[in-house]
Amino acid sequence: VQLARAQFRISAPTVALCPPDIGFEVAFAGRSNAGKSSAINTLTRQRQLARASKTPGRTQLINFFALDEERSLVDLPGYGYAKVPEQMKIEWQKHLAHYLRERQSLRGLILLMDVRHPLTPFDRNMLAWAQERPQPLAVHILLTKADKLNRGPAMTSLQAVRRDLKKLDFEASIQLFSAVSRLGLDEAALKLADWLAV
Ligand code: GDP
Repeated sequence: VQLARAQFRISAPTVALCPPDIGFEVAFAGRSNAGKSSAINTLTRQRQLARASKTPGRTQLINFFALDEERSLVDLPGYGYAKVPEQMKIEWQKHLAHYLRERQSLRGLILLMDVRHPLTPFDRNMLAWAQERPQPLAVHILLTKADKLNRGPAMTSLQAVRRDLKKLDFEASIQLFSAVSRLGLDEAALKLADWLAV
């Protein structure tokens, strides 16, 4: 797949208003500020495809980027932003759960977590929903902003998350990633290509 071909297609305010559930999708999810927009822009080699400087939590839309006629990348709303009213958080958790459980075209989930603050309760919810499908959804975790840590501490964090996932009985592949240093870019792109090469 040619990630650089990604083109904005549509913003859906709810799961019901998403494009028809046909073809193949990979979704990106993570806490607000985890570096999701930066990762999408880096992977697609476009500076502004996903807006990287929005007010976190405000634009609660599911954004679809088409790679070709039948393949899309999906930018799910960032979760966990402190200033969003509780009721709205609950509402959006419902949407995310619904999308992750029901979307047939979904091939895999890229879950982004700041390497310094991994596996928040929200992240665990996402992992749980991904596993609740009849055929569990493949999950690949990007530990973002890896450039903020030296190699040693970054590897320690990677190993710790791996251990915790095992303890929690979650199946997921995992890697370090940085939109700034481009660490892990090829590995992440290969994962997308693998999921979308159908
Ligand atoms: P989003 O809310 O998950 O879409 O996060 P953004 O992509 O908007 O990034 C949030 C903040 O983290 C911004 O200030 C980015 O410049 C910064 N950021 C994102 N990725 C990286 C990274 O790999 N390294 C560093 N040092 N900062 C990053």
